[in-house]
Amino acid sequence: MLGAIIGDIIGSRFEFDRGNKSKEFELFTETCDFTDDTVMTIAVAEALMNAGKEADEKTIKTCLIRSMKFWGQKYPYAGYGARFIDWVLTDDPKPYGSYGNGSGMRVSPVGWLYDTLERTREVARWTAEVTHNHPEGIKGAESTAAAIYLARQKTPKEDIKKYIEDEFGYDLSRTLDEIRPDYEHVEDCMHTMPEAFTCFIEGVSYEDTIRNVMYIGGDTDTLGAIAGAIAEAFWWIPARIEIKASKYIPEEFQLVVKRFMDSVLDNCPKKYMGSVFDAPVIGKVLPEGTTFIKGENGCLIPVYPEGSGHEEKEKPDQSE
Ligand SMILES: [Mg+2]
Repeated sequence: MLGAIIGDIIGSRFEFDRGNKSKEFELFTETCDFTDDTVMTIAVAEALMNAGKEADEKTIKTCLIRSMKFWGQKYPYAGYGARFIDWVLTDDPKPYGSYGNGSGMRVSPVGWLYDTLERTREVARWTAEVTHNHPEGIKGAESTAAAIYLARQKTPKEDIKKYIEDEFGYDLSRTLDEIRPDYEHVEDCMHTMPEAFTCFIEGVSYEDTIRNVMYIGGDTDTLGAIAGAIAEAFWWIPARIEIKASKYIPEEFQLVVKRFMDSVLDNCPKKYMGSVFDAPVIGKVLPEGTTFIKGENGCLIPVYPEGSGHEEKEKPDQSE
């Protein structure tokens, strides 16, 4: 999921066809920022953790709606579509048949949390259905989560590609060079998912995948979020990129990321243990003894132990 957030941040300054479609650019500049893709990724991660791994459809959807509304209302200017912000603000939110790429950009936590591909796809479908209950919206979520699930198990890229083509019917035959000349900012799944998958398939690393996104242009923050989430699972994210990106990620998001990473440790290589969010250089450490209380709308708020001074706290000694 951090791969989605960082892809969003890097792609943010090229959205709406800004930039000149090049792989050569500064990854992080003053004009980078997180957008709706990051806020909703955080919302989905927190909802799934609050619901619990074995939760049923009703529980997960209730937690999703609560969490997406909470974070959406807290960050209302992150760049949502008009219908989504109406959904965030209404007291009685209902799915609205969307096939926008929002279902794919927010789903990445699902790809890490569950033990089978079937369960991964099922929960991914539910994350879409609370808003994006159009078949194409659901496909966007299911295919992204499935690709992450397969990638984190080091499934060969060709096999991931074949699975996505066979199961979801996306045409992944076009190369980035073929996509690039006519590709513009579009916000539907049908013109986002194949392109995002191809950025990953032609990539050779996390960074290269993100650079592929700017090479073809389009809805670059969302493409960065989707392709970046898959690339993260396949290659992981270089520490230098994580460290630079962390400056753009509010502490309350970092706490959700940290809690999420801890919760999926059994499901991923132990490299998550070394997340930058544990590193003293950033100074964002969840002190031992931190508990959570349920805040407004059921969101969990960290309560630090008295006198922990967590801002300056050194990394806990994990040898003990
Ligand atoms: Mg966005």
